[in-house]
Amino acid sequence: MVQLTTVFGVASILIPSIRAHVVPPGMSLIQRDLGKTALLDNFDALDAEPDRQPPVVKGTATKWATGKYPQNCYDKAREAISDTDSRPKCQLRDLEIYDVTYEDCAGRDPWIVCRCSNAELTLQETVDGMSTLPPGARSNVLHTVTMNGFGGGGGYSDGNSIFCGGHPANTWFSHESMHCNDRDGFAFSNGDIWNQAIAADTCVPDAYSNNNPTEDFAQVGTYLNYDINGHKIDYTGKDASCMSHQLDAARTYLGDRLDKGTKCFNAPGSDGTVNGKRDERRNIIEKDPESDFDEILPHTPYTSHF
Ligand SMILES: [Zn+2]
Repeated sequence: MVQLTTVFGVASILIPSIRAHVVPPGMSLIQRDLGKTALLDNFDALDAEPDRQPPVVKGTATKWATGKYPQNCYDKAREAISDTDSRPKCQLRDLEIYDVTYEDCAGRDPWIVCRCSNAELTLQETVDGMSTLPPGARSNVLHTVTMNGFGGGGGYSDGNSIFCGGHPANTWFSHESMHCNDRDGFAFSNGDIWNQAIAADTCVPDAYSNNNPTEDFAQVGTYLNYDINGHKIDYTGKDASCMSHQLDAARTYLGDRLDKGTKCFNAPGSDGTVNGKRDERRNIIEKDPESDFDEILPHTPYTSHF
């Protein structure tokens, strides 16, 4: 399945199915077509009505003083727009960094949202979208980075942070956050428990899930979040018992990270990032926001790398 691309004119027709992630260095993913029946064609039905989505929790965003940028946000901003357009995805003067806190997460250090001022996804949509994850699952996401998709778009997780260009469906927040909960290095979805669960079932949640066990886990986790915290998924007319082993295995693994009303926590990043200690946090770039980037990084399409 072609997942997504940022090539002009092509990606726009693919936006509904944009989910992918980049594999961090040293990690690998099993590449195989699971070959299961897709219970649903896609997850459009899950977002079709507001009351099917997990409820929004009030979040508050506080903008950083200008001139300081998390490294991963800075690096995403200075990627070229495309292979034929060497302008950066976001100029420093347009890059906004926010601390975000939520009413159901008192005591946790703020999440960091990094947004280009021309991103299709608004700050409010981003803050609200992340709040549709229960406190535990949300806690394992360190940063959320949103950029303009320049006619296309897509998203991925590096296991710690989630990135997107364009305007993905709301299930995108759950999907990428589930990758961040598949710690470390997507170890759960590549392990025996998960793969035995897949083997014992005849279906997966949707066509995208068939890409590999890691994408399947992210989709099953999303399905569970919507089923438990949104509206019970009884409106599709489909019998989900064909994936009961996956539902049970993901529910057991995620535990109370899937439940509203549980505690938030400061998650250590598997890339050396520690979001719990702001003063000690590494990799904050300090630069004049009116300056240009010294170096533009190669265009990195939002295609999967597996
Ligand atoms: Zn994914």
